[in-house]
Amino acid sequence: MKRIVSIIGLSIFLTFTFTAQAFSQELIIYSARKEHLIQPLFEAYTKETGTKIKYITGKAPALLQRIKSEGAHTSADMLITVDAGNLWHAANEGILQPVHSEILNQNIPSHLKDPDNKWFGLSVRARTIVYNTNKVKPEELSTYEDLADKKWAGRLLLRTSKKVYNQSLVAMLIKEHGEKQSERIVKGWVENLVTAPFSNDTKVMEAIVAGQGDLGVVNTYYFGRLLKQDPKLPLALYWPNQNTGGVHINVSGAGITSFSKNKKEAIAFLEWLSSKKAQNLFADTNLEYPANPKVSPNEIVSAWGDFKQNPINLANAGKYQAPAIRLMDRAGYK
Ligand code: FE
Repeated sequence: MKRIVSIIGLSIFLTFTFTAQAFSQELIIYSARKEHLIQPLFEAYTKETGTKIKYITGKAPALLQRIKSEGAHTSADMLITVDAGNLWHAANEGILQPVHSEILNQNIPSHLKDPDNKWFGLSVRARTIVYNTNKVKPEELSTYEDLADKKWAGRLLLRTSKKVYNQSLVAMLIKEHGEKQSERIVKGWVENLVTAPFSNDTKVMEAIVAGQGDLGVVNTYYFGRLLKQDPKLPLALYWPNQNTGGVHINVSGAGITSFSKNKKEAIAFLEWLSSKKAQNLFADTNLEYPANPKVSPNEIVSAWGDFKQNPINLANAGKYQAPAIRLMDRAGYK
């Protein structure tokens, strides 16, 4: 009897220590996604699982470089960043490891993740046409390629080619059309520009509202932010290429570092981020689309209407980034 009691006692003790250990996990995350967008997620995960999350934030290239130079000594378990181009670079630099997870495969469509499973898109943003509703009728619009048409001369506004978002847009054009045709398109855009490219998407839209130009190309969440401040602005989004390749999209996403000390826990967190519960938390705070197609976007975002996404794998945004930068330079796109 005594022995049975002590066995039970021992097993209770073991269970307790084991559980305590399972809940004393800690993850360290390097994030190029802004603090106010990720912190609520970390808090929710800690509340649910007990796993504590420490993080640092910074610009993607700096964090990437840091993980690279820390090498095997890095404390980072996960890198979170915006733009498939940045994620591709991280994988290409060898700082991310492949993750084989049924849950991730089910939750994240294949065009939004690395073919080698080193990174996974977690939220989707569309880079699409925005226009002044007093100056342009949606029937006049059709495709990104059409923005090179002479009818838009002196009417088009763009953000700088130095921003990775435009590099990814042109990289995906190259993947779809080849360099020659893409260069003709980008040259046409440049010829149609009203003025030198702007430093950010919001400035593009402010200039459209001010009447400096009639239309531009921006990420959907910047449009959402501006319209939230002033719903009466004469701006609308247009979904181009619906009869051809689809709207250019991009992701923010994450990968697990090659030298993570907590791989199992990091995978569990990544899987959780792709789940229904976390997807709205991840996407809604920045007015983005959930990457998991089973999850609906919030009502502000869904009010912009449905559209066909370009289904080409986003790894190409990184793969063709260098030729895209050279092409934009040749085309005079500053
Ligand atoms: Fe952005």
